[in-house]
Amino acid sequence: MIVVSKCLTGECCRYDGKSKPDPEILALVERGGAIPVCPEQLGGLPTPRTPAELQGDGSAVLEGRARVITADGRDVTKEYVCGAYKALRIANEAGVKKAILKSKSPSCGSGEIYDGSFSRRLTAGDGVTAALFKRAGIEVETR
Ligand code: SF4
Repeated sequence: MIVVSKCLTGECCRYDGKSKPDPEILALVERGGAIPVCPEQLGGLPTPRTPAELQGDGSAVLEGRARVITADGRDVTKEYVCGAYKALRIANEAGVKKAILKSKSPSCGSGEIYDGSFSRRLTAGDGVTAALFKRAGIEVETR
């Protein structure tokens, strides 16, 4: 059993109200081999929602050294951290050791994320949920 980003299953849970379906991930969920989670929805954010980027990386956010800010200047750090811990609880309850998450997302991205300038520039780092999963020993792959 693995955890997957819900938007990869075709669920319209992205900030823009759309999805990023991946046929392999959808097939895996339909076979009962994967649990879809959307950390931003789990954190209480609405869909659609104003896009947000990390002012730092996911590890810094978890340690209280960086914040998550929307394009219109709102601090949504609490929602991002809350959603990450709820996603981790779901993963732990199912004994999950691997996750396939959506690339570049401020929650789900792994290895590279947008740099906080809202100019589509990427920088090295993990999203908040990906960082938390890695700390918990869950292998993270992205699509
Ligand atoms: S990338 Fe992650 S947080 Fe963003 S919509 Fe997909 S599942 Fe939700």
